[in-house]
Amino acid sequence: MDECIFCKIIKGEIPSNKVYENKNFFAFLDIGPVNKGHTLVIPKKHYKNLLDMPEEELKGYMETIQKVSNAVKKGVNAEGISINMSNESAAGQVVMHAHFHLIPRFKDDGLRLWPQGRYKEGEADKIKDKITNCLESSN
Ligand code: 5GP
Ligand code: ZN
Repeated sequence: MDECIFCKIIKGEIPSNKVYENKNFFAFLDIGPVNKGHTLVIPKKHYKNLLDMPEEELKGYMETIQKVSNAVKKGVNAEGISINMSNESAAGQVVMHAHFHLIPRFKDDGLRLWPQGRYKEGEADKIKDKITNCLESSN
């Protein structure tokens, strides 16, 4: 992935504030932090997002995210941490290399992540069926 900015960051071709790395994952400060200490955790191999990552990468990814989250929270004296990932451009993904956002949170930071709606009568059941059908056909 020659043109991918996150692949270039891993290779050191673009500078970054590296927070942590291990064999398969790399963590660095987001250039445009939602709150100070906002960190991105990425796989060293280029995957587009979580949906195309192989199962064998997922345990290590989540362990790395937990480890770095604890350090970010402690390091900036945060009261909580939001862990977020956008998958596909419709979901707001801009950089097409898988990344989790670790966002330090404070009680008074005023950040509202998303508005919530409501289901009409019977609608939730139909939508639940559509999703469970897809899970059955993926087994
Ligand atoms: P997305 O919107 O794809 O979920 O998030 C991409 C994130 O990458 C954004 O929060 C953006 O600030 C960050 N970002 C984009 N380019 C760079 C860069 O060159 N260096 C760093 N450190 N972060 C970047
Ligand atoms: Zn990449």
